[in-house]
Amino acid sequence: MTQPIVSIVIPIYNEEENIPELYRRLETVIQQLDGEVEVIFVDDGSRDNSLNLMRKIHDRDYHFNYISLARNFGHQIAVTAGLNFVRGRVVVVMDADLQDPPELILAMIEKWQQGYQVVYAQRLSRKKETVLKRFTAYAFYRILRRLADVNIPPDTGDFCLMDREVVDILNSMPERNRYIRGLRAWVGFRQTAITFERDPRFAGTVKYSFAKSWALAINGIISFSRVPLKLATYLGMLSAGVALFMIFLVLYWRLFDSASPLIGYTLITIALFFLGSVQLFCIGILGEYIGRIYEEVKGRPIYTVKEMGGVRSEELRVKS
Ligand code: UDP
Ligand code: MG
Repeated sequence: MTQPIVSIVIPIYNEEENIPELYRRLETVIQQLDGEVEVIFVDDGSRDNSLNLMRKIHDRDYHFNYISLARNFGHQIAVTAGLNFVRGRVVVVMDADLQDPPELILAMIEKWQQGYQVVYAQRLSRKKETVLKRFTAYAFYRILRRLADVNIPPDTGDFCLMDREVVDILNSMPERNRYIRGLRAWVGFRQTAITFERDPRFAGTVKYSFAKSWALAINGIISFSRVPLKLATYLGMLSAGVALFMIFLVLYWRLFDSASPLIGYTLITIALFFLGSVQLFCIGILGEYIGRIYEEVKGRPIYTVKEMGGVRSEELRVKS
């Protein structure tokens, strides 16, 4: 097989209902591309028939390779694993549930040919997603934009095209907490958006639980911003200000307004709980950062691989 021009990385976690249709649509797209194409399915520890389907497709069609992670490591790590093995001069990352239309790859490649190193897909709308999901996503991307050190474009997911140069840099980043859309923005180079309507899931249920989405969002903020760390300072200043004000208020009451009842238990209790919660909240934030330092320092491999089909370094089982 000659060196592929285009590599397509697709993380898969229990997507057996989507794989046949995904394959059908990818095949059509591959036929329209000139040059060699490789698809790398990354099985993120699926418990359904997904891995079997990948093996079958790989046996039948040499364009399709796969890596199977030894357990469920999560979407971002699955994408990371895929990127570690791609060989193409240009790499596309997309979801398996056909929310990211494969046909858009053609338009992305056109942009790449115009000289862009990163072409990310930006959602104009999210069809058939719950109001809550749409609202939280909307709010999150705006908050992240305000807090982050790098400009992470809103309403973009991991669906994108990246030049080899960018993928090599991503692969050289040692960090374990990987918020790929942020790292991709961090790298720089010439980046451009291409807008699309995000289709509903073709089949199956969402694999991102609320807890996983929450973790991803927190990770995005903590990995790309130090603003939360400053919150303790600001809250401290605020409560010092309130305390000072109270001192003067009590003095005033004592000296000039003896009729006012001196503030009793209620206020003390409120102040106690208020300060207690501010302190716990700030310790919690510190904990988020320290927990990440701990993760990084341990230096464990990011993932473990149990099986591969068609990708290079057949002997490589652990990648750090
Ligand atoms: N996915 C994964 N590991 C996980 C969760 C999800 O590889 O632990 C994959 C999933 O199979 C899909 C993509 O990540 O291809 C996006 O997941 P999903 O569609 O559930 O989330 P969405 O971003 O659409 O809400
Ligand atoms: Mg999806």
